[in-house]
Amino acid sequence: MAVPATKLKEQKEIIDVGLEEGAARLTYERIEQVINRVITGEMAARMKVYVDTCIHCGMCSTACHYYLSHGTPEWAPVGKVKQTMWEILEKKGRVSPEFIKRASIIASTECNVCRRCSMYCPYGIDIAYIMATVRRICHLLGVTPQYIQDTAHSHSATMNQMWVKEDEWIDTLQWQEGEAQAEIPSLRIPLDKEGADIMYSVIGPEPKFRAQLIYQAAILMTAAGVNWTMPSGPGWDNSDMAMFTGDFETMGRVKRTHFETAANLRVKKIVMGECGHAFRSVYDVGNRWLGWKMPPIPVIHATQFYYELLKEGKIKIARKFKEPVTLHDPCNIVRGRGLHEMMRYLVNATCENFVEMYPNREHNHCCCAGGGVINCGPPWKTKRVESNSTKAEQLAATGVHICIAPCHNCHGGLEDIINYYKLNMHVMFFIDILMKTMEIPDSLKA
Ligand code: SF4
Ligand code: SF4
Ligand code: SF4
Repeated sequence: MAVPATKLKEQKEIIDVGLEEGAARLTYERIEQVINRVITGEMAARMKVYVDTCIHCGMCSTACHYYLSHGTPEWAPVGKVKQTMWEILEKKGRVSPEFIKRASIIASTECNVCRRCSMYCPYGIDIAYIMATVRRICHLLGVTPQYIQDTAHSHSATMNQMWVKEDEWIDTLQWQEGEAQAEIPSLRIPLDKEGADIMYSVIGPEPKFRAQLIYQAAILMTAAGVNWTMPSGPGWDNSDMAMFTGDFETMGRVKRTHFETAANLRVKKIVMGECGHAFRSVYDVGNRWLGWKMPPIPVIHATQFYYELLKEGKIKIARKFKEPVTLHDPCNIVRGRGLHEMMRYLVNATCENFVEMYPNREHNHCCCAGGGVINCGPPWKTKRVESNSTKAEQLAATGVHICIAPCHNCHGGLEDIINYYKLNMHVMFFIDILMKTMEIPDSLKA
C-alpha cells in the first residue's frame, strides 16, 4: 500500500502554551542549576556509560518509526540524543530557554520511549531512558506540553488521570453494573470487598470514555466465578502520565496509592485492565522510583489473566470469532514484559483466522501514541500520525479489517492512523473478542 507522503514540512509551527509560557519564564541561571541538579543527583553512572559508549554508527536509525516515516537524520534515535542530551552535557547545562523548548518538543512529541531502538543498537543503549531524562529536566524547568501536563496535574490533585470525582467513579460503576445485569441478573461489581482474590484496576479514561470495558470485565469475572473487587476511592486508577512528564514525585505518590489501596483491601493479587503504559508504571518505572525491586503485591496484565482463565478452564469458548484478525504487540507488555506468546494463545483460542503482521512480537513497530505522545493532545496529532506511515504500511499489508490491540494508547494511536491513512480497519480489545466468543453459563443468564 502506498501511504501519502509526509506533509510535515509544509505545516506551520505548532504553538503549545505549556511550552511557550514555560520557556518564557526561564533564565540561563535557572536552567544551569536544574540541569546540574539532575546530572549530579539523579543521572548516576548509567547516563555516562550510554553517552561514552555510543560510537555514532547510526544503526538505531532504521529501528525508529519516526526515521522510517520521515527519512532524515534528525528523526533518528541518535539524532534526537545529539540535539538534546549531548548538547546539555557538552555545555554543562549552559543552554538557552529556546533550546529547552526544542528539547521538550523532541523528547515529548518525537519519541514514544518505546525502546525498539535499543534492540538494534550493538551496545543496547537505552535511548528511551535518555529521552525520559530530558523530559525530567524539562518538567523541573516547567516546560512540558500543556495537555499532558494537565493529566499530570489531575493525577496529583485527584489520584486519577481524568479529573474524575469520587461520586462520578462510583456512579459509573453502578451504571455499568446495571447495564451488565441485563445479561446476568445476579451480577454485582463488589466494591471494597476485603480479602478478595483479585483487585481489578483500570485507567482514568475508562469511566470517562470507555465505560463499556468495565461492564465487560464484570461479565467476565462473573462468568468465570472470580472472587474480585474494585476500590471505591482513590487507587482505582492504575495509569500514570506523571511517569511520562518526568514528574517522578507525583508518579511515586500515584503508584503508592494504588498498591496501598490493594494492601488495605488485603487482596491476593491486582489485575490491571488492557493498558500498556500503566503496566510499565508498576513493573518497571514507578516501583523502582519507590525503591521496590518488585511490586509489593503481585500484579498481572489483563492478557495474562485471560490466558490463565482459559488455560484453567474457568472460561470456555462457545464459538470462535470468524472474521480474520491481526494482532498489534504493545511495546510495554511485549518488549517490556514478554507477554507475546500468551497473546497468541488467546488469539488462536478465540479466533478462526489469525494473520500475523510483520515485524511482530518484540520487533513490532510502536503505534506512535505511546510514551505520552498522544496525551500531548490535538496540537500534535497531525505530526504524530504523519510520523508513522510505517505503521500504516504494516497494518495495510495484513489485508485484514480487524486489529486486536490490548492497550488503550495503542487503540487511540492505531485508530488515528487508520482514519488518517484510510485503511478500512477497526481496532478491538481482547475483552471485545471474549464477549463475542465466550460461554456464559445458562445458570447465570437472564
Ligand atoms: S520512538 Fe522508540 S525507536 Fe524511536 S527513538 Fe524513541 S524509543 Fe527509540
Ligand atoms: S546504534 Fe547505538 S551506538 Fe550506534 S548511534 Fe545508535 S545509540 Fe549510538
Ligand atoms: S501505546 Fe502501545 S505501541 Fe505505543 S508505546 Fe505504548 S504500548 Fe507501545
